[in-house]
Amino acid sequence: MRTVPHWIDGKPTEGAVDAGEVRTGPVYDPSSGEQIAAVPFAGAADVDTAVAAAKAAFKTWRRSSLAQRTRVLFAFRELLDRHTDELARIISREHGKTVPDAKGEVARGLEIVEFACGIGEHIKGDQSPNVSTGVDSFSVRQPLGVVAGITPFNFPVMVPLWMAPIAIACGNTFVLKPSEKDPSAGVRLAELWAEAGLPDGVFNVLHGDKVAVDGLLNHPDVAAVSFVGSTPIAKYIHQTASANGKRVQALGGAKNHMVVLPDADLDLAADAAVSAGYGAAGERCMAVSVVVAVGAVADELVGKIASRIPSVKVAPGDAAGAEMGPVISAQHRDKIKSYIDQGEAAGATLVADGRAVSVEGRENGYWVGPTLFDNVGKDMSIYTDEIFGPVLSVVRAETYDDALELVNSNPYANGVALFTCDGGVARQFGLDVEVGMVGINVPIPVPVATYSFGGWRNSLFGDVHMYGAEGVRFWTRGKVVTTRWPDPSHRGVDLGFPQNK
Ligand code: NAD
Repeated sequence: MRTVPHWIDGKPTEGAVDAGEVRTGPVYDPSSGEQIAAVPFAGAADVDTAVAAAKAAFKTWRRSSLAQRTRVLFAFRELLDRHTDELARIISREHGKTVPDAKGEVARGLEIVEFACGIGEHIKGDQSPNVSTGVDSFSVRQPLGVVAGITPFNFPVMVPLWMAPIAIACGNTFVLKPSEKDPSAGVRLAELWAEAGLPDGVFNVLHGDKVAVDGLLNHPDVAAVSFVGSTPIAKYIHQTASANGKRVQALGGAKNHMVVLPDADLDLAADAAVSAGYGAAGERCMAVSVVVAVGAVADELVGKIASRIPSVKVAPGDAAGAEMGPVISAQHRDKIKSYIDQGEAAGATLVADGRAVSVEGRENGYWVGPTLFDNVGKDMSIYTDEIFGPVLSVVRAETYDDALELVNSNPYANGVALFTCDGGVARQFGLDVEVGMVGINVPIPVPVATYSFGGWRNSLFGDVHMYGAEGVRFWTRGKVVTTRWPDPSHRGVDLGFPQNK
């Protein structure tokens, strides 16, 4: 059985024996249910080794010139581009998503590397000559030190690339704790960083579970933590890292609504609902999980969504023509199916039922087919909870105001979409909706790299969003230098508070 190694100080390692114990976890192929690898779970000694390597590397990396960093980033960008197919297959094998979908994930991560290639521009400070007579001021943004990224299973390449390229471009050294469910992609990224010329210890990968995460959260040499995952863990990470005096941003779960107004192009809206609801088997933090049908459109819209479902091809991620792969694990499949049971029991109308879907020859895979509920109530668990599977709920709203109120009162506030042909209403929605990322006739409004990614309420704990200009702020701290080059006229003792002259 293949072991997926940690990557510490520029080389693979299986880690230390911790307290006489080597803990490992299984890695599965979700389309067959077979174990395909094992991954070591870091203990305290491994956390110390990884952080120490990053700390040692920080001494020189923080002093590297912007030109040197940019050269590495450009080389890394080229390597990512050249290895996109390979990375997509690694992702698909352990995650289950289709290979074309995984290529899309790599492309969106590569965008952030391209942003980071312009670090010289993004990190520029201000300079003000003669703020007081003979005195100049300038500001700089400097790296924090050793920083950590803790990432979820659903984007094993993109989410680490939301964090590491900017953190590293800013002069930090990085420890990635990827999801233990699909750990191989993170190690491949480390190899590509090394090939791009990144010095040893600047990017490290530490596998594991809560023990590894807690080790990083409590380590005195870790200055900042960026987290993406489910809401309860995001809350825990934010509280623990903050209590330990670390800078932290923790992005959590989602329940993304897609509001469809009576004047919308219903075919376009139905296409979008199916694509954004069932793509990656609903395991995207920006997946649409609730369609809000406003006014009289519900029957027609539900009919159009339902008519598209039978042609969604559910198959292993590397199969020709596959549109939707399996979900991540047997436990997750069972949890999704139990939500479908609950929705049915609560009285929602089950229009399409994915519980019995399976794939011939891969009966042990973790399959759930596209599922559609109509007449979903606000108190049903299929509405209140993040299911993170291919289950789409239609809630009927009488008016635009009711729909807006529904979205604004949901505890999650990651993404939202509005489908309409009315520019005035769309404009007002963009201003009034209390959600971090808004799409107008765009179902998955993931901001491009020059903007920043982040939800509101239970979808993000912390103040600063991910990547873009906010990313540069997160990974740096400011300093202002005030200078005077004295001449004899400045001599003389003055105990008063300095005033501008
Ligand atoms: P998860 O919260 O279970 O795990 C995320 C990370 O936290 C993993 O590295 C995991 O090892 C670690 N972890 C898990 N339990 C822990 C614990 N008790 N203590 C410390 N660390 C722990 O999330 P997941 O299932 O891997 O990913 C799916 C979730 O991530 C969904 O809720 C999804 O909405 C969310 N997500 C959010 C965004 C966003 O941008 N807001 C993006 C992607 C995924």
